[in-house]
Amino acid sequence: MSAFVGKYADELIKTAKYIATPGKGILAADESTGTIGKRLSSINVENIESNRQALRELLFTSPNALPYLSGVILFEETLYQKTSDGKPFVEVLQENNVVPGIKVDKGTVELAGTDGETTTQGFDSLGARCQQYYKAGARFAKWRAVLKIGETEPSELSIQQNAQGLARYAIICQENGLVPIVEPEVLTDGSHDIKKCAAVTETVLAAVYKALNDHHVLLEGTLLKPNMVTPGSASPKVAAEVIAEYTVTALRRTVPPAVPGIVFLSGGQSEEEATVNLNAMNKLDVLKPWTLSFSFGRALQQSTLKTWGGKKENVGKAQEAFLVRCKANSDATIGKYTGGTAAGAATESLFVSGYKY
Ligand code: 13P
Repeated sequence: MSAFVGKYADELIKTAKYIATPGKGILAADESTGTIGKRLSSINVENIESNRQALRELLFTSPNALPYLSGVILFEETLYQKTSDGKPFVEVLQENNVVPGIKVDKGTVELAGTDGETTTQGFDSLGARCQQYYKAGARFAKWRAVLKIGETEPSELSIQQNAQGLARYAIICQENGLVPIVEPEVLTDGSHDIKKCAAVTETVLAAVYKALNDHHVLLEGTLLKPNMVTPGSASPKVAAEVIAEYTVTALRRTVPPAVPGIVFLSGGQSEEEATVNLNAMNKLDVLKPWTLSFSFGRALQQSTLKTWGGKKENVGKAQEAFLVRCKANSDATIGKYTGGTAAGAATESLFVSGYKY
């Protein structure tokens, strides 16, 4: 079983390794038009292109924040947008050594005969779209597969469909020069305990890496974006050290050392919780052959969004809030976060049942 070595192999390996640089992480700013609409409506801002552009400009031109980022995931609309001075966002990122990425999936649909389990869509013209995105400057991609925990979930059907889907997506990306972020998200919805989440996460990751191997994916040119292993949303919380122990154990059992980096999603944790959990993982004294970093959406943007409130005069303050979160998470990637940056919005739970991205 040999990995596919196409014309982009060296570049894929280099890009994935760079994105996994300790001290840096990913900003997930790839909310679809519908999802960003929910964020904007939470601050009473209308979901029109100029407001979506303004929010993204605020993030991408934040003074001093970009050195803490190695990548930003964009939605298609954003990939082609410019700053108000007319500079393409892609150039702003590239000039700051931040790799532009692109969400290439088209959301989830229900698997018939299951209790609300899903598979991810977006294979139509995926290769051609990847080529266009590469031309536009993107060098990595994201595809989110979603699994849920229940009495009998995730079903074998859902595990296999989502593993195969991620593997097929990953190899199409690699054929076209994009590093695939492989994202099998086990949702936190439910009243299960942390042990159940650990068992499901291990089963899912084992199936995903089997599928990636079967599809000849070059693991050195990929990144993994998993959930952290936590108790369900309706269960009592546990300490960050416990989350760290369970999460790192699950990853050590299933993710090959050929993978350069693991970049977590925040999955509805508050900004502060996500940072503290990541920090605890990086402090664990066990062999971790990959970088453990962040690819947060909600947990990097919440206090920034609240501070901004859609008002020009708040942009500077909002950018300061964004810098605080970027720096905190950068510290957490090397286990050096000492806390103390969280106030107000940073400690609010961002959990939404059955979250759609
Ligand atoms: P959250 O960090 O808000 O969970 O989102 C990350 C992401 O990109 C999910 O696909």
